[in-house]
Amino acid sequence: MHQDLPLGIFSGGHGISGRSLNNGGIVIAVDALDTIEMLDDSRIRLGPGAVWIDVARTLAGHGRALTSGDAGTVGVGGLATAGGIGWFVREHGLTIDHLRSVEVVTADGELVRASADENPDLFWAMRGAGANFGVAVSFEFDTDPIGAEVGFALLVYYPDDIASFLQDWGAAIENAHPSVTGTLMISPADRRTAVQALIAVDSDDPDTIIERLQPFGGLAPLASQSVRLTPYTALLVPPPGTDTQHGLGEPHGHSALARHLDPELARALAELLASDAPFILSIRSAGGATADVSPDATAYGWRDANFLVVTLGGGTADFEKRWKQLLPHTKGMYLSFETDTGPEVLARAFPAPHLERLRKLKARWDPTGLFRDNFPIDPS
Ligand SMILES: Cc1cc2nc3c(=O)[nH]c(=O)nc-3n(C[C@H](O)[C@H](O)[C@H](O)COP(=O)(O)OP(=O)(O)OC[C@H]3O[C@@H](n4cnc5c(N)ncnc54)[C@H](O)[C@@H]3O)c2cc1C
Repeated sequence: MHQDLPLGIFSGGHGISGRSLNNGGIVIAVDALDTIEMLDDSRIRLGPGAVWIDVARTLAGHGRALTSGDAGTVGVGGLATAGGIGWFVREHGLTIDHLRSVEVVTADGELVRASADENPDLFWAMRGAGANFGVAVSFEFDTDPIGAEVGFALLVYYPDDIASFLQDWGAAIENAHPSVTGTLMISPADRRTAVQALIAVDSDDPDTIIERLQPFGGLAPLASQSVRLTPYTALLVPPPGTDTQHGLGEPHGHSALARHLDPELARALAELLASDAPFILSIRSAGGATADVSPDATAYGWRDANFLVVTLGGGTADFEKRWKQLLPHTKGMYLSFETDTGPEVLARAFPAPHLERLRKLKARWDPTGLFRDNFPIDPS
């Protein structure tokens, strides 16, 4: 008997959309596959159920790191099949750029290894659209050296003009040393006034850190500023009480990528911040070494994007109208922060030639569309 049931793939349970779980369907839970194993001085094998804080702690013991995201409780499986935009993205690129091979259980139940030499097409698809092609059960990554501590700054600005501040922030990030990665957080309570900036600098030399932070000091009046040396692992520990994401699909999220925070986008972001809806706007660095990899090399294709714009919350008609008005000033989308679905959203997730290639590969590797919990690609 054939039943058309939802099928979710669950690793770390931190999918913002909550699609790794479902009601009345099937969930393939691989969270128990949480191996973390150093294979030599720099290469590491990870199970999909391992979480990034444990990966970082293991690597720290070897003077190594693998850029992942900003939350250590996120699982390897979901992040390493979508992209991985983390604290060292401008210096080391995406997490998927360090992937050397992945073992996948495909739609026909086979265990298949994909790498540059074995099933290279599947390897291409797994790096950005992995959830459409199978259940990843083991990953091998190359890692980068890291010092015992890195610089981390927390600045609170009170800009007079938010649109012009955003442009200046964008320019400062794009011109910063590659070791510098920054995130802006603007929350509903303080959106007209306070902007929180979190900046990581991959150096353990205080003078170098201060020098690389200089351009950020004068962007707007500062309410407070602090800089500290801290182990990279400490950046991944979520503040107490904030880690409530377990496949819940809340809150509502939107995502867009942008090459520059140009005047049009900065104005549209200021308009979004004037919405009456409660939400958090986060503007994260992408770019840097991400662009060292050819756009055609992986299913993630937005290599020229310097910024990832994310909203969490919102959801009112007014907010949605303002978000839609902003989209023409962006190019592409990182699917991990988007909770909307449908062809329009899929078309923003991948450049057109990538989507075309993904459809062909889907027809080969998953012709019946078994894996469809997250941004399903139509094989036809
Ligand atoms: C608090 C928080 C902070 C975050 N910060 C960042 C960040 O800084 N940078 C960043 O890049 N992302 C970030 N994310 C997004 C995160 O990378 C994605 O939500 C990711 O999908 C979570 O992976 P998971 O395994 O924990 O989730 P799950 O809920 O287990 O899985 C999410 C989806 O990933 C797919 N998937 C999961 N496991 C597999 C597998 N083994 N094989 C194939 N497909 C699979 C499925 O489609 C599944 O629905 C953040 C998310 C949260 C909640």
